[in-house]
Amino acid sequence: MARKRPTLLLDHYLKQLRLPTIQREYKTMAQICAKENKDHISYLLHLVERESIEREQRACERRIKAAKFPILKTLDTFDFTAQPGINKNLITQLMAGDYLDRHENILFMGNPGTGKTHLATALGHAACAQGKRVRFLTVTGLITQLLEAREDRKLDKLLVRLDKLQLLILDEFGYVPFSKAGAELLFEVISRAYERQSIIMTTNLPFEQWTEILLNERLTGALLDRITHRVHIIEANGESYRLKDAKQRAKRKK
Ligand code: ADP
Ligand code: MG
Repeated sequence: MARKRPTLLLDHYLKQLRLPTIQREYKTMAQICAKENKDHISYLLHLVERESIEREQRACERRIKAAKFPILKTLDTFDFTAQPGINKNLITQLMAGDYLDRHENILFMGNPGTGKTHLATALGHAACAQGKRVRFLTVTGLITQLLEAREDRKLDKLLVRLDKLQLLILDEFGYVPFSKAGAELLFEVISRAYERQSIIMTTNLPFEQWTEILLNERLTGALLDRITHRVHIIEANGESYRLKDAKQRAKRKK
């Protein structure tokens, strides 16, 4: 019993201090270090290092979950040869995440199926790995949430929650026209983000047509002004990847 007590106590403290990796690994690591003649400091260092790495991994997984990506897409599954109009160097540079520290925006413009959502998600995923708070929403999804929150008198709370993000991904601007209230709420979010957060937006609509969705020329001007002040524009105007994929599969079947 007397010999058992230290590990019992140690387990208790490690649990209290929330050090699950050390708790799981200290015995095995002790055997390894004894075999390799490592001193106590090296032993402690190994354990603390493992705890730190795993803690960061858990935090990253939490950030990815909180971002609510519709599906997880990364850059390694993106075929740049299928979309030669997209500047690979720029995408690679953006993946490093410096634009987030400069509160710059990214705008993906182009036809459906050209990989806009794929690349926006890949950038969002990278931002999560870089420790940033990210949220992915469709523009319509965001507006629905804003209108509902306003109805429930919880709009301020939702806006404050959005303020805490470092990257807001707004997918599919332009598919559905907004109500006047919807357009104004979207403008509110974009204004609050201006020079404080980064926004990645995807759209199939050229700038000239944004008024058709926002239904107000002055509001469109003010929104464009903010979103395009510091922006990286990525145009994807090649063939739809979905369509090409479907055509190739159909050809193979023949
Ligand atoms: P968009 O948002 O522009 O309409 P998506 O990003 O949703 O297009 O792409 C449609 C589908 O095709 C997705 O499954 C996406 O992963 C895939 N896709 C598009 N472009 C590429 C590409 N260049 N390489 C690999 N997959 C692609
Ligand atoms: Mg899309």
